[in-house]
Amino acid sequence: MVAVSAGGIRRAAIIAVGSEMLTPLRTDTNSLIVTEELNALGVDVVFKCVAGDDKVELSHLLRHALSRVDLVVMTGGLGPTDDDITRDVAAAVLGRPLRERTEITDAIRQRFAARGVEMPAINRRQAMVPDGADVLQNAHGTAPGLWLDVDRKAVLLLPGPPREMQPILIRVVEKKLAARAAGHTLYRRVVKMTGRTESHTDEALQPLYAQWARAAVPVEATILAALGQIELHVSARAEDRRAVERTLDVAVDQVEDLLGRDVYSTDGKSLEEVVGAMLAQRRLRVAVAESCTGGLITSRLTDVSGSSRYVDRSAVCYSNDAKVEMLGVPESLIAEKGAVSEEVALAMAQGVRERSGVDIGIGVTGIAGPQGGTSLKPVGTVAMAVVTPDATSTRTLLFMGERQIVKYQASQAALDLLRRMLAGV
Ligand code: ATP
Ligand code: MG
Repeated sequence: MVAVSAGGIRRAAIIAVGSEMLTPLRTDTNSLIVTEELNALGVDVVFKCVAGDDKVELSHLLRHALSRVDLVVMTGGLGPTDDDITRDVAAAVLGRPLRERTEITDAIRQRFAARGVEMPAINRRQAMVPDGADVLQNAHGTAPGLWLDVDRKAVLLLPGPPREMQPILIRVVEKKLAARAAGHTLYRRVVKMTGRTESHTDEALQPLYAQWARAAVPVEATILAALGQIELHVSARAEDRRAVERTLDVAVDQVEDLLGRDVYSTDGKSLEEVVGAMLAQRRLRVAVAESCTGGLITSRLTDVSGSSRYVDRSAVCYSNDAKVEMLGVPESLIAEKGAVSEEVALAMAQGVRERSGVDIGIGVTGIAGPQGGTSLKPVGTVAMAVVTPDATSTRTLLFMGERQIVKYQASQAALDLLRRMLAGV
């Protein structure tokens, strides 16, 4: 256990090492996980960057980071090959010679032996450790993590593969960082909502923001517009965990009072999880008829474990023929109203509901684009219908954006329409 007096850690920087992340083919995701863990301790990440496997660039970045923050977290480049340079660079920048730790060599040799393979000589590089480093066992790979105290600061080296990195990170957080983090612990709640634009939501919330800023435990809020939904992140920090939790509970309740049924989740749950829980609780089963969404609604519904309790079937009826043959939509209705119309969406929902004999039918038909739009029904026009045992609801919406975006927003709107009907809105 490190004493708090060893120097408070409040500001951190992350350097993700690996040339592959400077190509369009790979993204740095480790830093998101590191940031989440650090933020939870009240440590702010003040910057992060990606460096290629280049000793000169990496040395500059590490020196700069050390001059600015209390903790530098580096991930990747701890492997045994020549392009794995993180260990060497850290040793050089910190002026700590590398020495082999035979206990690490032995552990790596045993990992290979367990698979009946002799350890390649190059793996000895992974046992080279800068003087004074604490070795952090890696249960899922050969490269251990390393913790280096540098005056009142620290450098943490973690292996690149996320499944190796994460368990080491979590142990370091518990064993070392929790005691040294000087900031107050940060708590966050995520409120998700639909049915309003970002600016309307923000406007509606202004009075709350003002009130929160003046509170004994101030609450900070950030609005994020995502596809087909708005997220409000509310956070607060304090020493007393229960005081913060209470404050955030109240803040979330206030948001719900203000925005009503537009709020669909306050605990991070996705729309498909929320809808699924409602269906499961009422023992209702659903069948879906999808044209422009191509099965996306059903795919999202079935992303939730346990969805077999409430998802019965799905028909992807892309052509007019399919709508007629699979769902019994009258040809004359399509000819008269057009395939993209509330009437056809309703006939699709009724058709799939009747043919499957379940409680709820959903029908969605639209123009995902970029071709196929007309002046009356431009690209992005989507008609949808939901039929439940006691109600029928239809909508026509216009979404902006490219194909995938239109499809996703259509799926979101259809799930949301069902949610609102089940909630009795
Ligand atoms: P290894 O012993 O596996 O070589 P390493 O510490 O040298 O470990 P890298 O070689 O840098 O790690 O990366 C190994 C793999 O881990 C990469 O192919 C990449 O897929 C993944 N990886 C590395 N860094 C990151 C990152 N920042 N975010 C997500 N994945 C990463
Ligand atoms: Mg490597």
